[in-house]
Amino acid sequence: MITAKRISRQAPRWQEQLADAIRDPAELLRELNLDLALLPTAQAAAAQFPLRVPRGFIARMRPGDPDDPLLRQVLPLAAELEPASGFVADPLHEQTTQAAPGVLHKYPGRALLIVTGACAVHCRYCFRREFPYAENHAGMDEWRPALAYLAGDASLREVILSGGDPLALSNRRLGELLTALERIPHLERLRIHSRIPVVLPERIDDGLLEVLARTRLRRVVVIHANHPREIDDTVRAALERLTGIGATLLNQAVLLRGVNDTSEILAELSETLFAAGVLPYYLHLLDPVCGTAHFEVKESAALAIMKVLRQRLPGYLAPRLVREQPGQLAKTLVERCS
Ligand SMILES: *Cc1c(COP(=O)(O)O)cnc(C)c1O
Ligand code: SF4
Repeated sequence: MITAKRISRQAPRWQEQLADAIRDPAELLRELNLDLALLPTAQAAAAQFPLRVPRGFIARMRPGDPDDPLLRQVLPLAAELEPASGFVADPLHEQTTQAAPGVLHKYPGRALLIVTGACAVHCRYCFRREFPYAENHAGMDEWRPALAYLAGDASLREVILSGGDPLALSNRRLGELLTALERIPHLERLRIHSRIPVVLPERIDDGLLEVLARTRLRRVVVIHANHPREIDDTVRAALERLTGIGATLLNQAVLLRGVNDTSEILAELSETLFAAGVLPYYLHLLDPVCGTAHFEVKESAALAIMKVLRQRLPGYLAPRLVREQPGQLAKTLVERCS
């Protein structure tokens, strides 16, 4: 009886894995047999934006390779501490464009809801690394003004759950939120932007599938993978479970120097994604947020990569190269007709 009680009170396995994510740069370097000379700068950069990476994602990295494309996305580096002109704290002016607390309504017909500040992984290039997340709490009381805003604008067809990472919420909280969203009659589509299917695939558990399967809203899940090696069998299984409940799966990637800035890697990413039931959607040019300049790929180089990619792949496997610009009514397509 004691055992049964203990089991019922146990956190789900994914929550344990989330809590067990590596946050100490020394531990990450040791796990991967990397030179400890990297440690002082890693610690200094982690003091600005903490390290966080689930062990399952680390298992997909090559030990002993400081340039591993998965490692580069999460390892704090000295380069982050160097100021770079044009790289600022809030390049998209998101802190001043909230329509209601936690609501970004920049584009017609769809609004983005920041439901939590938490992420399962901390991506060094993240445009939200400077966002004051502590102010954006998760829970029905905090969401009420946002829900009132969505209910009050009948031009909205789609709500996008974002963050942070919306799948960092428990199934209970997500269920409560979806129930409230479903009651808003003009909403037709639910989109979830999440890196969790890639970095913590165990999160796609039965409870989550139940919550997502029972909503009347059409479901779109936009995952975030930047390199084909991020997609392993555990990720494929999670994606299969999501397609199994009728969700449309799309991918957004960020074009990152030293990670995926060749047409070969991006072509392989598209092929790998499609084999796992996911269509490439966006390839983002980096947002110029401080501490990320070393990831920048110049627009001319990005266009050259895209040109080769379009020759190599069927049209539906080539992502749209976009840049976000404050004040525009949609993401700006970088490729023009020629
Ligand atoms: C990216 C984004 C969207 C979604 O844009 P789509 O073109 O529909 O993918 C919506 N709202 C905000 C604030 C965004 O940044
Ligand atoms: S998971 Fe997304 S929001 Fe979180 S750190 Fe990575 S890119 Fe940023």
